[in-house]
Amino acid sequence: MKNDDLIARSYNTIAGNYEEIVEIDKALEYYDKSVYHFEKASNDTLKAAVFNNIGNIYFYRKKDFPKAIDYYNQSIAISEKINNVYSVVLSKLNLTSLYFEEKEYKKGIVHLDYVEKNRDKIRIVDVQGYLYILLGKKYHYLKEYEQAEFNFKEAIRIGEENNSKIYLSDSYNDYSKFLFDVGKHEEAYTFLEKHQILKNEIFDLEKIKNAKIIGMDIALDESKRELSAINKEKLLQSENLKKTKIIVSLILVFLMLMMFLLYILYRNNIFRRKVNDYLEVKNEELKIAKEKAEEASKLKTQFISTISHELRTPLYGVVGITNMLSDEHKELADSPHLNSLKFSARYLLSLVNDLLQINKIEENKVVLENLTMNIHDEINMVSNSLSFIANRNSNKVVTMIDDSIPDYLVGDKLRLSQILMNLVSNALKFTQNGEVRIKANLEKREGTFCFVKFEVEDTGVGIAEKDLSKIFDKFVQIDRKEDDYQGAGLGLSIVKKLVTIFKSEIFVESEEGKGTKFTFTIAFDSDMTKVNEIINDIKVDLSSDMVYKVLVVEDNKINQMVTRKIMEKNNFKTVIVDDGYAAMEALSKEQFDVVLMDINMPLINGFDTTRLIRKKGITIPIIALTAFAKDEISEEAISAGMNDVLIKPFEPSKLIYSIETLVKRNND
Ligand code: ADP
Repeated sequence: MKNDDLIARSYNTIAGNYEEIVEIDKALEYYDKSVYHFEKASNDTLKAAVFNNIGNIYFYRKKDFPKAIDYYNQSIAISEKINNVYSVVLSKLNLTSLYFEEKEYKKGIVHLDYVEKNRDKIRIVDVQGYLYILLGKKYHYLKEYEQAEFNFKEAIRIGEENNSKIYLSDSYNDYSKFLFDVGKHEEAYTFLEKHQILKNEIFDLEKIKNAKIIGMDIALDESKRELSAINKEKLLQSENLKKTKIIVSLILVFLMLMMFLLYILYRNNIFRRKVNDYLEVKNEELKIAKEKAEEASKLKTQFISTISHELRTPLYGVVGITNMLSDEHKELADSPHLNSLKFSARYLLSLVNDLLQINKIEENKVVLENLTMNIHDEINMVSNSLSFIANRNSNKVVTMIDDSIPDYLVGDKLRLSQILMNLVSNALKFTQNGEVRIKANLEKREGTFCFVKFEVEDTGVGIAEKDLSKIFDKFVQIDRKEDDYQGAGLGLSIVKKLVTIFKSEIFVESEEGKGTKFTFTIAFDSDMTKVNEIINDIKVDLSSDMVYKVLVVEDNKINQMVTRKIMEKNNFKTVIVDDGYAAMEALSKEQFDVVLMDINMPLINGFDTTRLIRKKGITIPIIALTAFAKDEISEEAISAGMNDVLIKPFEPSKLIYSIETLVKRNND
């Protein structure tokens, strides 16, 4: 900026110099350059002055009036814009002079009026004198001779006072013309002469000036050289400046980027720390929740096994005594009370068993066993054992078994009969005076595997569409009426879980008022070598009629009685003791074939008693009779030295079978 102003001023000076030595084109060239730099420097005052100077060149030197007018007007416009009245006055004076020369007086007078109004702004004497000349010309044109005379005379006075030769020469000339016009020829001649003398003087001065011009040229060259040096330096500086600017901006951008990255890193860190803290808290909470859940699950399992143990112990008594009653008192066989007692006892037992079963399945403790089976036998067994309910509701049970199903299959018949029992008993419960069909069809064979499709269909009350999805859930009973039937809503959920263990799926179709149909398919192996292997494995010599001596260790009086009855029914001799120490004593005095040991007893439990017996070197078979769930205690029972575990209430035949097998093995 500063440089531009300096350059502009220098160009202006050079242009002025060229003008002085009448190198007009050069002068114009430098004025142009000067305008360019003033523009860059935004110096309007000087730009206006340069336009005025260029106007002067076109007017006085080149006599190109239109261009001169154009430059004056541009100068005026700029000066007006920046409110520089002095500059406007100068350009307007020049413009007036031009129009007067062109004899366009009216146009000139417009500008001259402006100058006159602002004549107090004129600071240079020559210019004041010049104004008088132009005013003189104006009034001369308007034929206001008095005014014209006055102004010409004022112009001459100022010129003479200040010895301004050029302008005085003009004043003489114009005044002489005026005098000539108004008929004052003599006076006109005098002033013309004065004008001539001055003109000559000026001419001489011009000559002297020309002599100086060569010297000026050198000075001019010098200043041109200086100017180009400044220009070059300026260029260099601006290039350096540009480079520095680029480097600085790059550094700035880089710094900003770094700051931004740092900020993001910082934010991320905070966020990560927060998330970490949050996760740690949640982890801790989860750990606590997991421990609680495990604790709860353990407690639940414990609770269920304790409750079922507590229930099974008295149930052993109830079921056993009921059986004894009906065995010993044949006359009571038809007693409705005894039948109800039997039914209730069995129902209670099945409920406890169901609960245990669900618990076991949910803990993934159920493993299917491979047993040989016959579909006819299984289905008949189910239908026979439910004949009581069938009769009660006046239902007919129809079994349809596909003849192409092999007679011997390998599979878990206990679990299968459990599924069928639940489905058929439901069908019988929810049907009155109807029919329940149990069907088994050979769906397909794959290698040695037979896929048997079972259907349990009834003509009962049916299940509403909306309830179909719920019936397999635990403890769900739909629209149960008071006198309907007994049940805990566990049957179908056990069925579904068992079918899943068989790697299958159960389907239900039902229509309210028409009946219900449950369908599922199970694959059984029919490989005869497997069947034979299993049969050989369980071959038992049931022909023996041995009379064994049995020591029963049991604290519960009712259970003592039930076990004694079972033993006596098989002609086994029985000695009963109340606790483990009494058992030790009995064993030391007498010879026994087998010990039936309760686990949960006061003073010393069944496990510890067994350990004591084994410590003494007695190898007699010991069978645990317990109300605990088998898998809970079998490990400890075996490690304590017991030979078998039976869960109360058990089928008497199972106990006899176990006794005979163990005693025989011990005696071999
Ligand atoms: P529970 O029989 O002990 O009530 P289940 O789980 O065996 O429990 O059955 C659940 C419900 O499904 C029953 O309460 C009954 O509403 C409905 N249901 C089951 N089987 C049948 C059927 N064959 N006909 C009509 N409704 C049935």
